[in-house]
Order: sequence, then C-alpha cells, then structure tokens
Amino acid sequence: MFPVHRPRRIRQNPQLRAMVREHRLTRAALVQPLFAVPGRGVRREISSLAGQHHLSVDLLVEEARAIADAGIPAVLLFGIPESKDEQGSGAWDAQGIVQQATRALKREVPQLQVIADLCLCEYTSHGHCGIVTRRGDTAQVDNDATLALLARTAASQAEAGADVIAPSDMMDGRVAAIRRALDAAGHPELPILSYAAKFASAFYGPFRDAAGSAPAFGDRAGYQMDPANAREALREMELDYEEGADLLMVKPALPYLDILRAARERFEVPLAAYQVSGEYAQLIAAARAGWLDLERAMLETLTAIRRAGADVIITYFARPAAKLLP
Ligand SMILES: [Zn+2]
Repeated sequence: MFPVHRPRRIRQNPQLRAMVREHRLTRAALVQPLFAVPGRGVRREISSLAGQHHLSVDLLVEEARAIADAGIPAVLLFGIPESKDEQGSGAWDAQGIVQQATRALKREVPQLQVIADLCLCEYTSHGHCGIVTRRGDTAQVDNDATLALLARTAASQAEAGADVIAPSDMMDGRVAAIRRALDAAGHPELPILSYAAKFASAFYGPFRDAAGSAPAFGDRAGYQMDPANAREALREMELDYEEGADLLMVKPALPYLDILRAARERFEVPLAAYQVSGEYAQLIAAARAGWLDLERAMLETLTAIRRAGADVIITYFARPAAKLLP
C-alpha cells in the first residue's frame, strides 16, 4: 500500500515552506535586557555574557538608541548601584541608578519602552530579594515586610517614567501590593509584567556575575520555584493574574517550555518568556568551540519559545536576532 499522505510534498522548496510555516518570529516581540552602572563613559563587557555590557547612563542611552533603531520595542532595565545596604534602599531612591537611567531613556529615546525590573537583590548587601530576618540560627526572607519596599520601589520607578513594572522577587502578594501602590501614586495606567513562574535555576549563573546579586548565604529556593513543579507554576501564575498582572512571565525559557505551553492554554493575557543568561552563554560557548552554528541555534531556540506560546521574548540575542527578522 503506497502512502496517500506525503508530508514532504509541502516541504519541496523555500516558498512552500514559508507559506505553511506555523510560527513566525518578529522583532516586535523582542526585549533586550540592559545593565546600568554608575559613572560616565563606562562600557565594560560582562565576561560571562559575551556581547553584553555594563553601561553608564550616558552610554546606555546610545545603546538604547541603536536598539530602537534595530526595531526592538523595549528594554528590560537592571541597575547595579554604587553601594548596598541591608534593606536595599537604592531600589527606591529617586536618584537611584534605575531611576536615573529611566529618566534619561525616556528623555532621549522616548519611543523605546522601558520595562523596569523590580527586585531588591541588586541593592541588598546580603543579595536576597527581600528583608532578611533571623530566627535563632536560621535567616529567612520576610515576605510581608518586603512587600512595602517593593511597592515603594514600584512607585519610584513609575515616577521616573518607566512604561512597565516587572516584579521579579517572587514574594507572595507582591502584584496586588504593587498595583495598589501604583494606583495610589497616580499611575493606574502602568502595566505590570509579573515574573510569575520564576524557577530557582542554575541557568541564572552568568546574570549573578552581571548584576552582582549572588546571595551571601543560603539560596533562593525559599521563594523561587522548585524546577520539578508544573502545577505549582500554574497556581503562581493564576494568583498573579488574579492580583492584577497584565502580562505573565515564565523564567527561564527553554528548560520550561512545558510550563509556557500549559500557561498558553490556560490564560488569555500575553505571555512573556525570559531566555536567561545561562541559556545565552551556553550557546555562545558552544559556538566559540565550533560545535554549533550560533545563528541557526539562536533562531531555533527563539522559535521554540514562540511555538510553546510566548508572545514576548526577553533575550540577550535581541540585537543579532533583530537583524535577521522582519
Ligand atoms: Zn531578586
């Protein structure tokens, strides 16, 4: 019995293949992470993230202009402050590094959307994402005490001109606390992009170099999610959605495509996925060793993330990918 069905018929040439392609990447879906540091004229490559830099605000603006010219609609902004303290007060300082960078970006490159990452770990001396309290021998991140500081930081970022607030701390109830704070500060229009399903992942390694945010003791497993848990991830996303998140994120991306797919089937809001530093660094390293074609591997991973259900992809590949995409 000769097959009636021959799927190869529609793969015969590039035109047919393009015509029946199910998922397409566009530049309009990409977000470039940026790292602002104090000073002037600073442009230092981050050794674990080839092609990514620590940038002082003056040069960050130049970089942002090039990003906007490349057709990328948004940046995700992180800050590395001059000094840190127990509470992370640099996070909500009106003269803080993210606030300065945001004001400069909105003045100089107004069309580029500034998504402000909201967490305390870059600003705390202990590197945890919230207030640490000690009970006897054990130190814990105090959820409810942290909420007030996150809310204060959100209002400060909004005041500086951020277009989207993106809490990445994984405290319970933070989306509701931030929504209330934004509304009370006169910013009911500002969307919240919640890092809703953020896993305690080994793939954040290079980022911690970049942001200087490795915890001084313990780890983040007490607030970030267990990589083994899929149902719990959906519950986290449901809670953030109910608390008023406008977009929901899964982080990391490639090791968690099943979560992204399940979320796509369950939620109507836009989904974001963060292709994190370790995902980027492993492709760069393998390409440098001559073990894979970087351009093809990059587009294949981005396509996989899109296919799984992401509307928005945060990636260190935004610049090179944008060159190849419509
Ligand atoms: Zn954090």
